[in-house]
Amino acid sequence: MARYNGNVCRLCRREGHKLFLKGRRCETEKCSVDRRNVPPGSNLRSRPRRLSDYGVHLREKQKVKRIYGVLERQFLRYFKLAERMKGNTGENLLSILERRLDNVVDAAGFATSRAHARQLINHGHFAVNGRKVDIASYMVRAGDVVEPVTKDRSKKIVAEFLELNNDKSVPNWIGLDRGDSKVTVNSLPKREDVRFQDIQEQFIVELCSK
Ligand code: SF4
Repeated sequence: MARYNGNVCRLCRREGHKLFLKGRRCETEKCSVDRRNVPPGSNLRSRPRRLSDYGVHLREKQKVKRIYGVLERQFLRYFKLAERMKGNTGENLLSILERRLDNVVDAAGFATSRAHARQLINHGHFAVNGRKVDIASYMVRAGDVVEPVTKDRSKKIVAEFLELNNDKSVPNWIGLDRGDSKVTVNSLPKREDVRFQDIQEQFIVELCSK
């Protein structure tokens, strides 16, 4: 599947927000949004463009896709699934995105970013309920246990990143056992569990329902 391989800081500048795509670097003064928050291709002196209503809705969708590293077709599949579920479609959509295995691996601190988590999963370093899973979009369920596969190398890699991220706070819906390097899904994520609280999911629902 095609994937964006360019400079991810450009994506943050395009959206005008920190999307935290580079892990620890995003919290340092090297962050491009903090240093030069203008869209790529424009300069500091050019006047910011005024977005149309459609543009505002579109940017919100693009922002969420970029945060979770999801491409258009998959995003629309998630949207259809969210529509079929009971409750608020926008909240369902964010819950589905949070349940992706790459998001769980990143949230637990087993990796430095979602992109890094995706790479570790693709390389077969993780198991869910004791079975190897190498699909980053795998959707976890309540009660699932995510841990490194029973290979010394995988355990060592995960333990190293866990140590590196030892001050990272873990969302309430997952329980991290640092000693055993394993994470348990306590419950499905709710709106308040989403790490990006400023997402305007109703804009995405309005755009995708047309
Ligand atoms: Fe975005 Fe992180 Fe780059 Fe800052 S450092 S622009 S938050 S990816």
